[in-house]
Amino acid sequence: MRDFERPKAAFFSFTSCEGCQLAILSCEEALPEILKRIEVVNFREAMSERSDDYKIAFIEGSVSTEEEIARVTKIRERADFVVALGACATTGGLNCLKNRFPMDDVKRIVYGKDAGQIETVPARPIDSVIKVDYRLHGCPISGKEFLAFFADLVMGRSPRTPNYPVCVDCKMAGNICVFEKGMYCVGPVTRAGCDAICVTYGSVCWGCRGYVDDPNVNAHRETLKRYGLTAKGVAQKLDLYGGKKQ
Ligand code: SF4
Ligand code: SF4
Ligand code: SF4
Repeated sequence: MRDFERPKAAFFSFTSCEGCQLAILSCEEALPEILKRIEVVNFREAMSERSDDYKIAFIEGSVSTEEEIARVTKIRERADFVVALGACATTGGLNCLKNRFPMDDVKRIVYGKDAGQIETVPARPIDSVIKVDYRLHGCPISGKEFLAFFADLVMGRSPRTPNYPVCVDCKMAGNICVFEKGMYCVGPVTRAGCDAICVTYGSVCWGCRGYVDDPNVNAHRETLKRYGLTAKGVAQKLDLYGGKKQ
């Protein structure tokens, strides 16, 4: 296969737990086929080689330092196509929890006497800094969804992103709604595509895939209150993963 048929791809990690890269590495059976289709030139969790020559950049993590802002800008300049991998990159993710507190307090609590040496800014999704061409949602991303996206990419098809709420997946999975069990859920405003896995396994939807397009947040806020959640609890629930509409 000639090189122009096998574009170079790089995977980058910003502020994150790197669980989304692990989700890709966990697609073990598909990895040989993936490597026939792209040449991976950067992937910190899987190889030590590094190159700045790539067409496709997969970016995991949110930006939370000035250095990261400069680095993600440089990556955008080099790449033809940028994919945001996971909640940290698409909505800011759990990193945004620190934005609820004064930054000096956050640094002091985490780093103690070394807080003065830490440079940090409020966490945010990468599209607050650069243009993003495609988003893979979730915390972590779904391996199944990554492989479907990858197939679309190499076939030259427009990748599809589910644009309906998790409740649809949940009903298709045959779950009893958690509101019937005295629990709270943000599935009605959250983008589907995860098969409502958290509800299926006994929890609730926490909103890791970000909001569906045009979510009726006000209506869901009222529903959560009607079921007994305080105003503060409602705000925290709707904003757990950054609350950015994606
Ligand atoms: S989205 Fe979740 S799994 Fe992925 S890097 Fe961020 S915290 Fe980790
Ligand atoms: S449990 Fe959550 S995701 Fe499932 S139907 Fe109820 S509100 Fe929707
Ligand atoms: S059910 Fe909700 S929290 Fe769980 S994976 Fe799906 S979107 Fe994320």
